[in-house]
Amino acid sequence: MPRHPDRQIERMSQPDAARLLARSRTAVVVAGSVEQHGGHLPLGTDAFAAMSIAERVAERLDTAAVTLGPTGVAHYHLGWPGTLSLRPETLRAVLADVCESLALAGVERILVVNWHEGNSAPLRVAADDVQRRHALRIVIAETHVITHRKHPEEMEFTHAGSMETSAVLAYEPGLVHLERATQASDRGDGETAHGLFRRPDVYPVMADFHVVAPTGWYGRPELANAARAEEIAEEVADHVVERAQEIWQALDATSHGLVDRVGAIDDGSVPR
Ligand SMILES: [Zn+2]
Repeated sequence: MPRHPDRQIERMSQPDAARLLARSRTAVVVAGSVEQHGGHLPLGTDAFAAMSIAERVAERLDTAAVTLGPTGVAHYHLGWPGTLSLRPETLRAVLADVCESLALAGVERILVVNWHEGNSAPLRVAADDVQRRHALRIVIAETHVITHRKHPEEMEFTHAGSMETSAVLAYEPGLVHLERATQASDRGDGETAHGLFRRPDVYPVMADFHVVAPTGWYGRPELANAARAEEIAEEVADHVVERAQEIWQALDATSHGLVDRVGAIDDGSVPR
């Protein structure tokens, strides 16, 4: 099952979209970013990575993939012109407005497919606001984290390295140009600095990506290839659907008073 652009809501007719949303009562909301990824990957890497997974998830759930727009919260990449950033409150407002529209279409469950660390905190705050105001249940999938955790060596958690190159290959291979790569920053230094921001207990907050990679990126894009990229994107989509269904079942069970069932479910928690 490769990509499914026909799952993008803006490509559907209104009657088709209305039918899918009302029947599934579920929508897949997509959050990405437009930010520098060196010379070999496009600015929209995170937006394309998120959409690639979201279309596959929407196909499995027989519903629509609904983008929040390609841009995310990426102010710490603005030192590289061409990068675009929303203020966190803008992303929160867009999520709230899109969710409200989906609620009017009969949607009760929103599965957010994100591929960008800068979006995670605003999305979580926005999801909390939306849940207080509408009868919607929101689940967030951090697909970059899932991809890395499934294949920690092969899918490196760098910036513009093998994992993100693979994600773009799974979306549109013609957008990858390894021959145009700019100077990579030191990989060991990048991993060490990036690791501080990803600590789950005591952590700093990213202000300028130069502290991780002075040239904007680090990693080994040359390790990625299109065939593996496709397999991995499929695997990640399966994982997202499986986890979301576990969560929906468990929460339905608890709302019916069967609290003890939750204890039996692996929480799959991930460090940020
Ligand atoms: Zn990225």
